[in-house]
Amino acid sequence: MTAPIIIVGAGQAGLQAAESLRSEGYAGSLTMIGDEPHTPYHRPPLSKAYLLGEFTAAQLAIRTPEALAKKGIDLRTGITVSAIDRATKRLRLTNGDELDYAHLCLATGARPRPLPLAGADLDGVFPLRTLADTQAIAARLPSASHVVVIGGGFIGLEFAAVARKLGKAVVVLEAAPRLMPRAVTPMMSDFFRDLHIAHGVQVELGASVCALLGEQGKIAAVHTGDGREFPADLVLVGIGILPNAELAQQAGLECQHGIIVDACSRTSDPAIVAAGDCTARRLADGNLLRLESVQNAVEQGKSAAAALLGKERPFTANPWFWSDQYDIKLQMVGLAAGCDRTVVRGDLAARKFSAFHYRGRTLIAVDSINSPEDHMPARKLLDLGLSPAADELADLSRPVNALISR
Ligand SMILES: Cc1cc2nc3c(=O)[nH]c(=O)nc-3n(C[C@H](O)[C@H](O)[C@H](O)COP(=O)(O)OP(=O)(O)OC[C@H]3O[C@@H](n4cnc5c(N)ncnc54)[C@H](O)[C@@H]3O)c2cc1C
Repeated sequence: MTAPIIIVGAGQAGLQAAESLRSEGYAGSLTMIGDEPHTPYHRPPLSKAYLLGEFTAAQLAIRTPEALAKKGIDLRTGITVSAIDRATKRLRLTNGDELDYAHLCLATGARPRPLPLAGADLDGVFPLRTLADTQAIAARLPSASHVVVIGGGFIGLEFAAVARKLGKAVVVLEAAPRLMPRAVTPMMSDFFRDLHIAHGVQVELGASVCALLGEQGKIAAVHTGDGREFPADLVLVGIGILPNAELAQQAGLECQHGIIVDACSRTSDPAIVAAGDCTARRLADGNLLRLESVQNAVEQGKSAAAALLGKERPFTANPWFWSDQYDIKLQMVGLAAGCDRTVVRGDLAARKFSAFHYRGRTLIAVDSINSPEDHMPARKLLDLGLSPAADELADLSRPVNALISR
């Protein structure tokens, strides 16, 4: 029998690695261990359609247990891997079992960054990462009237949109001077601030939360450093995530804000690969890139499987991501940091446009609002290293697609 491969973490990346191993011809023992009680499920709807009742828990599942069994993937749920002994190639599990591995794939994901303030554990204060988190929020939402969202990132803003749709009074408190500051350009931050204000959300920028106050153990108000008080009966904390890299770190793998991998998902141990939110990818210039997205989990999962089979499948495509807020679909590709010029194609006021971001003459990122017809060709433009001129992009009579085959 071929030596066993064990995947730690039964999320998007772990599942992809498992399925790619099988589709690439690996016929040996394959075990996937997950600490949540579920088969792998889609997280994106947790802050979107699920809370609006447009999605059931069953619909979140990426695969049924039967489908996994058919592929010979031995899924063990509700079990945490507590230690890796690299010298003996053995895992310790919280249920007392020990498992030998020949190769390991770490796909342990990430957890919400905790709010380091007293009151963060009051009843009615929620993170949003897991199905259990979302179910707890869904149970509380109907009786909530004043919702405060701490953190104006993607998850906070998607939740704010849902809460407004459900008729709640919503305040978003963001410590930075603009929304989604790490992910989007100032222009896109302003667009989303105006969008939320137009839907009746109170958006407070530069608002640093200093205390959460409760009454009889329940959240009652959020205080900001400038002395303001925001009444609240439900608080969502969305201030980023921390990679689950401790298991790897304790085993002596190279880690820095995540498990360090190369473009082929290889770690500093030749017997171990890693994929998804738990990783930080070393780029050709030596810098580390941390991505938290479905694309990253899927592509790194595929690369990890290939690496375990002795093949090289580097993941070097430009990162893409999406977000749904109200009737707006944002689709992003590339990394806009360092952009010094933006060309807008389409109609900002009509909320249908794409923003093409340049550094010098080079196209580095494209954000599309309700313009899926621009997004797919934009991915191709970036992956091919093409940088169309501003007048070509502004000409709406020519599809972006036409700029690829020049
Ligand atoms: C609310 C929400 C909305 C999102 N929306 C989008 C979106 O619109 N677009 C997009 O591209 N991305 C989105 N994302 C991000 C995307 O879902 C993640 O990047 C992706 O799920 C990461 O997959 P993963 O497998 O790396 O991690 P996870 O899905 O977190 O899976 C890791 C699993 O490993 C388990 N685990 C950890 N440690 C252990 C251990 N020691 N033993 C056993 N099991 C362990 C974890 O509990 C978890 O179940 C969203 C995420 C959230 C939370």
